[in-house]
Amino acid sequence: MKIALLPGDGIGPEIMAEAEKIIDFFVREGEHIETETALVGGAAVDQFDDPLPDTTLQLCLAADAVLFGSIGGPQYDTLPRPKRPERGLLRLRKAMDLFANLRPARVYEALADSSTLKKEVVAGLDIMIVRELTGDIYFGEPRGIHINDQGLRCGVNTMTYDENEIKRVAHWGFQAAQKRHGSLCSVDKMNVLETTQLWRDVVIEVSRDYPDVKLTHMLVDNAAMQLIRNPQQFDVIVTGNLFGDILSDEASMLTGSIGLLPSASLNQSGQGLFEPIHGSAPDIAGRGIANPLAQILSLAMMFRYSLKRIDLADRIESAVEKVINQGIRTQDIVRPGESAVSTSAMGDAVLSALA
Ligand code: NAD
Repeated sequence: MKIALLPGDGIGPEIMAEAEKIIDFFVREGEHIETETALVGGAAVDQFDDPLPDTTLQLCLAADAVLFGSIGGPQYDTLPRPKRPERGLLRLRKAMDLFANLRPARVYEALADSSTLKKEVVAGLDIMIVRELTGDIYFGEPRGIHINDQGLRCGVNTMTYDENEIKRVAHWGFQAAQKRHGSLCSVDKMNVLETTQLWRDVVIEVSRDYPDVKLTHMLVDNAAMQLIRNPQQFDVIVTGNLFGDILSDEASMLTGSIGLLPSASLNQSGQGLFEPIHGSAPDIAGRGIANPLAQILSLAMMFRYSLKRIDLADRIESAVEKVINQGIRTQDIVRPGESAVSTSAMGDAVLSALA
């Protein structure tokens, strides 16, 4: 297993160090895992004047999977756009053709009162949102702002999907459902948008390959409401880029902590980039207090989805759950009266739970 490690900026290197402890542990157990670290984002701009140097890109393309930390920081906000850290990540996603974005939102029993929703609504919540990442209204042409026939400024974006783009992400949705609890809800707006009528038709066609998965459909406005009203009804949700962008943020906030949520972005061959959903947290960087669990859970997703080592993924996820149940907390999830542990103490706790 060849893994490219891109720690990035801010808290990225701090939380990546904790994920590396887990990798080293598996290597000591006899697993054949090769890792190589490279610069990306602001750290790469500082050294190479490029947020995605060619050496980093080539390393990622040759790897089985990429474990990504986080990028960005206020010192880079005034750079010309092509030099900005986030441009490096966008270029990498494009070069690897990562079209399926998997975002789990899970509420650990012991942390259910961290959510802004009532505990009984979210306790035990475990949803996976599969969002299409490379098409839809974000990329459709024509686009832009022009002056129309009446001399008024007019904004245009184009929602478009072809059937192959829908098919390939639908397959990821069904396969994720097979690996979880066997049900898939496809979200669209077929009552008013033809593009999403096609979405629904194609998802139904793909469903014939997955008779073991129960498929349902929901309009996006209802899905936004149901995620708040009764989120436990969902197992896997598959949807387009625009709806997925909004619904995945909504779902992640049900859990109450950004420091716990991993994500995966995958291409056709199953190669993927795995990263926490949070950013580089410049406000706490360098203080050793960041929560490394989203990074560690991103590593678990890597074993599950790219490296096909479900056994190792299950072990990491059980270890994280054990640590949370033991009441070990970093400052972002600590409750009044409890004391917080450091980033590295949290990593060590996961390691002991694993052992
Ligand atoms: P952020 O996610 O970095 O931080 C938001 C808040 O959550 C902060 O208070 C931070 O301290 C806290 N937080 C985030 N991760 C945490 C963790 N693991 N443990 C404990 N607390 C944590 O979002 P932001 O402040 O809006 O953005 C900071 C920088 O990150 C910006 O430059 C932004 O562009 C970049 N960013 C990068 C990514 C990415 O790398 N994919 C994603 C989002 C934002």
